[in-house]
Amino acid sequence: MSLLEQFERYPLTFGVTPIEHLPRLSKALGGDVEIYAKRDDCNSGLALGGNKLRKLEYIVPDALASGADTLVSIGGVQSNHTRMVAAVAAKIGMKCRLVQESWVPHEDAVYDRVGNILLTRLMGADSRIVEDGFDIGIRTSWEEAMQSVRDEGGIPYGIPAGASVHKFGCLGYIGFAEEVMQQEVELGFEFDYVVVCVVTGSTQGGMIVGFKNADRANRVIGIDASGTPEKTRAQVTEIVEKTAELVGLDKEITEQDIHINPDYAYPAYGIPSAETNEAIRLAAQTEAMITDPVYEGKSLQGMIDLIKTGFFPSGSRVLYAHLGGQPAINGYSYTYRNG
Ligand SMILES: *Cc1c(COP(=O)(O)O)cnc(C)c1O
Repeated sequence: MSLLEQFERYPLTFGVTPIEHLPRLSKALGGDVEIYAKRDDCNSGLALGGNKLRKLEYIVPDALASGADTLVSIGGVQSNHTRMVAAVAAKIGMKCRLVQESWVPHEDAVYDRVGNILLTRLMGADSRIVEDGFDIGIRTSWEEAMQSVRDEGGIPYGIPAGASVHKFGCLGYIGFAEEVMQQEVELGFEFDYVVVCVVTGSTQGGMIVGFKNADRANRVIGIDASGTPEKTRAQVTEIVEKTAELVGLDKEITEQDIHINPDYAYPAYGIPSAETNEAIRLAAQTEAMITDPVYEGKSLQGMIDLIKTGFFPSGSRVLYAHLGGQPAINGYSYTYRNG
């Protein structure tokens, strides 16, 4: 039975996302492990979609019920999350105020003009760039943005970075876990591992709670892209505990259920390593699967390295959770100028 029956969901996505077999990528990595991707990057018609929409489906009913007229949120300049909050605001007819922090020391001349921020501006959000650096927690600039809406007579509804520490932020990815388990029935097999990028934590957190219900939480392999893995781990733990209680999970989640690999976030959040770029090129050239240098390129790099180093037993089926994020690649036009 679904853990989500008691919660209201406002549909923003197309529904069940496809699981795609990646035979050429599997073969390029030796063929001992079969790789599949769950394409949450293709989950919606709203501004190119992605994982934040799955989360926001469970937050929008609360925003509507609150009587607010303005969604307020925060992220980096090339934030996928703020793009999706802007999209939701446009779609449900609210205003949107965003704080876009300087999370990445970018080099590209067009970094603050293209990709996510371009789409965000196009959808009419009031997007304000500030100097603060990377942090996954609650920020003063966010509190100030909330207050600025109030000062102008508006009613703000706050959505934290990545929609993660919101009380309903984790529900969408419980839905993901339940959806995968239904798809496994149709496919006639179970995945041995799920690989997922983790930064603010509610994507992996939701998967942990959802898969724990079937005693499979420890098969969710989080690949940290924050570069601050202790903070991310602490936030995932907190989110998972709160959400398990919220949904009434009758199993206890332990430390062993929270698997976060810190090895691939280097050199820093938002900066791809040479190995990240190799991974991005390999998936693009074998499967035409496009990933970004901030998030999905790093989880892809992690999955590829774990395959090469024998972490997954031979014959494993690995499900790569593709969470979206492709618009950011435009902010790295110099890095990929020759492919
Ligand atoms: C936000 C985001 C993530 C990280 O998800 P969290 O829930 O913040 O851990 C990964 N990939 C993409 C494309 C994202 O936009």
